[in-house]
Amino acid sequence: MELLKGVHVIESYATTTLLVDDRLVLVDTGVEDDTRMILDALAKLRVKPRDLATIFITHTHPDHVGGLATFKRDSPAKVAAHRIEAEYVSRARTYDGPPRVQRHPGTVVDVLLEDGQVYDGLRVIFTPGHTRGSMSLLDETRSLLIAGDALNNEHGLGPMDDQFNVDPQQHRASIKRLATLQFDTAIFGHGAPMKGGASARVTELAKRL
Ligand SMILES: [Zn+2]
Repeated sequence: MELLKGVHVIESYATTTLLVDDRLVLVDTGVEDDTRMILDALAKLRVKPRDLATIFITHTHPDHVGGLATFKRDSPAKVAAHRIEAEYVSRARTYDGPPRVQRHPGTVVDVLLEDGQVYDGLRVIFTPGHTRGSMSLLDETRSLLIAGDALNNEHGLGPMDDQFNVDPQQHRASIKRLATLQFDTAIFGHGAPMKGGASARVTELAKRL
């Protein structure tokens, strides 16, 4: 689905986003078993893994990082993740939070991101609590937030279920931080995207937390 011009949302178990500008950027890679489906969706857009400039990983959960090794096999794309999460993506360290012990094949993270940094057109918003090094990404040109699992929209807008959060309180603090930002559109790791007035909805949610 082309949500906004140059913003393609590929829904599998978790959301993958393709941003088409002068460079091609992918955000999150789905579960390993959905890789074929995501590759097919990209192929319909005439995009091959080797065309990608950057693959951002919002966090190390298997439904976001699972396809990464397959994508990287045929791609010179740089892998970018928050500095804290990078160790878990590469499996230099084994992630100790829920839901279970990691099994994805480790992939080296080329770009270690810091809060506030802009890389390939996206501003890093550090949103820990779901995992230790979770991040969301803000496309200021399009007024678009790619939340990852810092927010959930499966049953209305809310936090992620706490069984998946390493630190529920910190997760809520991250949502309150997102509520201070301005964006019209939001894409979530799980649940339908929100078009128009998205940051106002996040502000309403933050008041209830
Ligand atoms: Zn997650």
